[in-house]
Amino acid sequence: MITHHPNDALLLDYASGAASEPISLLVATHLALCPVCRRKVEDYEAIGGAFVDNCVSEKISDELKSDTLASLDNLAEVEICHNTPVGSNSAELKSCIPRPLSGYCGDIDDADMWQWAGFGIKKIPLLERHDKFECYMLAIRGGKKVPSHDHGGSEWTLVLDGAFTDESGHFSRGDIVEMREGEEHQPIADAGKDCICLVVAEAPVSLTGSMGRFLNPFIGS
Ligand SMILES: [Zn+2]
Repeated sequence: MITHHPNDALLLDYASGAASEPISLLVATHLALCPVCRRKVEDYEAIGGAFVDNCVSEKISDELKSDTLASLDNLAEVEICHNTPVGSNSAELKSCIPRPLSGYCGDIDDADMWQWAGFGIKKIPLLERHDKFECYMLAIRGGKKVPSHDHGGSEWTLVLDGAFTDESGHFSRGDIVEMREGEEHQPIADAGKDCICLVVAEAPVSLTGSMGRFLNPFIGS
């Protein structure tokens, strides 16, 4: 059961079309797993549609109104993922990636897709052309501890398979954890299976401590 959701500001940005592509990808992937947030976004879209209807008489042309309503319709096309439990074999690993994300991350079964960062961590960079956010798939080997790190900006981590625990709680499939600038944490993957996450970070992560200084070149962009 999902207990950690995106905040309302992110959902509103997504519903209004104001969110950047990495944030839209994060929210769309969460929505594929979370009926609670899907309903919220539908409500926001309905409010946006009513606002356009009420403002149309003099200030908005028919063409602009129809274009705006069409874009809201497109935002409503959330791909629904089968939320089945997954194991550790490759077919099941692939099935843990919801449809909005699967088109971005290629074949995660292909070992060549992953960049090893040492210490049981590997990642697949996504949306590399985007200059404001880093976006990547992250895999933490089951039972491994990610070196303690803080953040130069906000960072959102969406769990797709497996689970991890940090100072703020336990996060499993569908959960999102948001870290703010200056906050520090040390995730530890649950034992038994790899923890696969989608990460969107506003600025390169800065690792702390001696281990962090060693790992920074690998974790950063
Ligand atoms: Zn949610």
